[in-house]
Amino acid sequence: ASKDCVQVAVRVRPFNKRERDAGSRCIISVTNNNIIIQDPRNPQNSRTFTFDYTYWSHSGFSRNKDGLFVSEETGGRYSVFLDLGQGIHDNALQGYNATLLAYGQTGSGKSYSMVGYGPNKGLIPTLCDRLFQSIKSMQDSRQCQVFFSMLEIYNEQVLDLLSKTSRSAGGLRVREDQQRGFYVEGLRRVPCDSAAQVEQLMEQGTRTRTTVATHMNANSSRSHMLIIIQLKQIFSKECITKQSNIYLVDLAGSERQRSSGSEADRLKEGTAINLSLTTLGNVISALADMALGKKVVHIPYRDSVLTKLLQSALGGNSRTVMIATLSPADICYEESLSTLRYAERAKRIQNKAVVNESPTE
Ligand code: ADP
Ligand code: MG
Repeated sequence: ASKDCVQVAVRVRPFNKRERDAGSRCIISVTNNNIIIQDPRNPQNSRTFTFDYTYWSHSGFSRNKDGLFVSEETGGRYSVFLDLGQGIHDNALQGYNATLLAYGQTGSGKSYSMVGYGPNKGLIPTLCDRLFQSIKSMQDSRQCQVFFSMLEIYNEQVLDLLSKTSRSAGGLRVREDQQRGFYVEGLRRVPCDSAAQVEQLMEQGTRTRTTVATHMNANSSRSHMLIIIQLKQIFSKECITKQSNIYLVDLAGSERQRSSGSEADRLKEGTAINLSLTTLGNVISALADMALGKKVVHIPYRDSVLTKLLQSALGGNSRTVMIATLSPADICYEESLSTLRYAERAKRIQNKAVVNESPTE
């Protein structure tokens, strides 16, 4: 088993129309792996955070701490994939579990990074492209099978995005198994043999996904989206089977729920999403404390559906990457600072990834 920390990347998107129209000021700058955030009400007050990767996609100029302008676009999808996706691809083929999480305020670029829009393909479709390319060009006698699942966690309920029947039944059940850990019972697993097929399923799932408009963005979603790609490799000569689970998570917006539009439904929804995100935060904090050598008696994985399903990704048998997304605008200062703090804690988590290998049955 190898011990590795959760890798954390931060990506800063360009201003959106609303921010441009409001004459927003850029309060974030990026130098190497540092992100510097300035308090707009107190410009002398700035904080620097260091991450494994940083991506700057804001088109305007930004002045860094030394007064230099930073303008180069470092957030192109190719570099993002090479840094974050390629390793997941390679690990999966070796038989490791891998997880990629997107965290950030609504409208900050989570879905853009994970799924992408139109020709700007995100990490998931690019990963699938490469995976099927690798499988097709394999020289040895191994046999590969890929299974695709897509679900949503909404109000602590699990909905299968590839099946219409789970919806009426009040969601699928999360069960625990000695060997597999937590899993979703009855989740549809679709065998796939091309990236095009996966893309079609993702479109189907995205169409099904429940969305509720928020103040920030009419298309934003308050649910967590989780894609599970299972890769099974059968080495017939060696009589060995390797299996890896890739978890790809587009989390709900991290912003604090605002109280307007407060019909009972809206409130319930806000609380449930906060429950999953709050629990995720608590789990991350506990694991970060543990990594610092503090005594931690309890890690609250069981307190929410999301953290149950992500148990192996957080402190367990997985190689895990988090991409935290930010707006560069002054009006998003509070949320951006809180995203950076969250991401900084995640960086400390240590996982113990092992190759999932067993004799072929
Ligand atoms: P989220 O999923 O976090 O709510 P989105 O990914 O939908 O946010 O992004 C909101 C908008 O910002 C989209 O129109 C998207 O195209 C744009 N955007 C996000 N990140 C980037 C980026 N790195 N470069 C260019 N545009 C981006
Ligand atoms: Mg989104």
